[in-house]
Amino acid sequence: MTVHLVGAGPGDPGLITVRGADLLARADVVIYDRLSAVELLDLAPSTAERICVAKAPNGPTVPQERINELLVEHGRRSGCVVRLKGGDPFVFARGGEEVATLIEAGIDFEVVSGITSAIAAPAAAGIPVTMRHSSTSFTVVTGHEDPAKGFTSVDWDALGRIGGTIVLLMGVGRIQAIVDALLEAGRSPETPAAAVRWGTRPAQSSVRSTLIGLPEAIRAADLGPPATIVIGEVAGLDLGWFDRRPLFGRSVVVTRARAQASELCARLRALGAEVIEAPTIETVDPEDGGVAMTEALHQIPHGRYRWLVVTSPNGASRVLGACHDARALAGVKVAAIGPGTRDRLAGGGIIADLVPGRSVAEGLLEVFETAPPEGGRVLLARAASAREVLPDGLAELGWKVDDVPAYRTRAVEADDETRQAVSEADLVTFTSSSTVENLLDAVGADKVPARIVSIGPITSTTVAERGLEVTAEAAEATLDGLVTAVCEALEASDQPGSEG
Ligand code: SAH
Repeated sequence: MTVHLVGAGPGDPGLITVRGADLLARADVVIYDRLSAVELLDLAPSTAERICVAKAPNGPTVPQERINELLVEHGRRSGCVVRLKGGDPFVFARGGEEVATLIEAGIDFEVVSGITSAIAAPAAAGIPVTMRHSSTSFTVVTGHEDPAKGFTSVDWDALGRIGGTIVLLMGVGRIQAIVDALLEAGRSPETPAAAVRWGTRPAQSSVRSTLIGLPEAIRAADLGPPATIVIGEVAGLDLGWFDRRPLFGRSVVVTRARAQASELCARLRALGAEVIEAPTIETVDPEDGGVAMTEALHQIPHGRYRWLVVTSPNGASRVLGACHDARALAGVKVAAIGPGTRDRLAGGGIIADLVPGRSVAEGLLEVFETAPPEGGRVLLARAASAREVLPDGLAELGWKVDDVPAYRTRAVEADDETRQAVSEADLVTFTSSSTVENLLDAVGADKVPARIVSIGPITSTTVAERGLEVTAEAAEATLDGLVTAVCEALEASDQPGSEG
């Protein structure tokens, strides 16, 4: 029974520490703030209790005393309690008070440092907080002192004189008074200054100005909290990279089953995109619970099948899951449609004998051998109610086909928030015909973004059948192919004269 104060990092969910992520994965309870990236909550087990103590500047807030009580209550009751706090738990986060409360209550605790926004937000806007020779110190200061203590508890006069970089957190609301105090202390009005909002998040925005011009620049850009303000020579540097990535400022809808979306999402995020996950389908057991597939697989060591055909990564996982021992597949040749399927099988120690160049059923039929004169059987393990092309085509090649359901997909309802986000996105990706059908059914054809990228020809046909136009199709039916097509579709629309 330990309470772990974990720094969530500045906003990008990738910027949590390895230790923090490990603890989240084992958490029984997560008590989190508004500034801790909500995506991180997905790391916690689905059974973990999630308690939001939203610390918003103007929104409803759970008083600190109540948060302390919650920590003590859960610290006594639950196994692994994660108190997830934005940035670092000991930088303007009242972590010190929370720890003092836990010590007093005799509860075990641990502090897992996080990357503070005081450094990471400027960095993401291309501003290093120190620079050899020109900026040899940085002072992190709150612009929002406990009102009970009054504005004067920070010695602005001394700060103005100390030189170096000033990093101001929670300073947007009082920026005019702060700038006035620094000018009065003798800081040059021409000192470079910058404000970075939602640093390291896809929504990051920033303004640059001089010290004297900063309040007006912030107003003009309508730049509200949460923002980090940097004052000093370094604010004149522009070592930017974050907002120069190819998909920065773009929002992309990903419509894979939730369990599979993560890799595609990660790649799009790495290129700067804001990813909207619309989990339209989920993969579940087939109606018979997988009995038919398991029974058929058990016939493999008895020589019933010459070939096992697996058509998707999901199918591969289900087949591997049903064979507790890889030797259960000894003696059968394995065909895999698509590199993803091949790789999933390889992960289970099964190297496919045949992977067609074209990652569709027709592609497999083009290269599949004809049945021997004495006949032979193929075991086809795939989604329930898939197309008939494959069993029909194999039959034409002389094979007897046992088509067993490995899994089935079913629709997941979209909530209002997801619907809204989808309709405002720049682009949508479709990775199978069922994602097309399900998303259109869930949100309506008029709510789908105008730019549509499909993983391959079959999916594109389904899009066309639903009356929409595909903007780009992946050259290769892989995540790489899809991501490349997304970049091209969005780049093309940047060019003058394009319709986008
Ligand atoms: N413990 C946090 C700071 C909490 S105080 C940390 O170490 O980062 C809250 C203030 O942090 C905000 O008002 C803002 O000034 C700053 N902040 C937090 N997240 C930010 C972000 N993503 N971008 C810019 N500033 C941020």
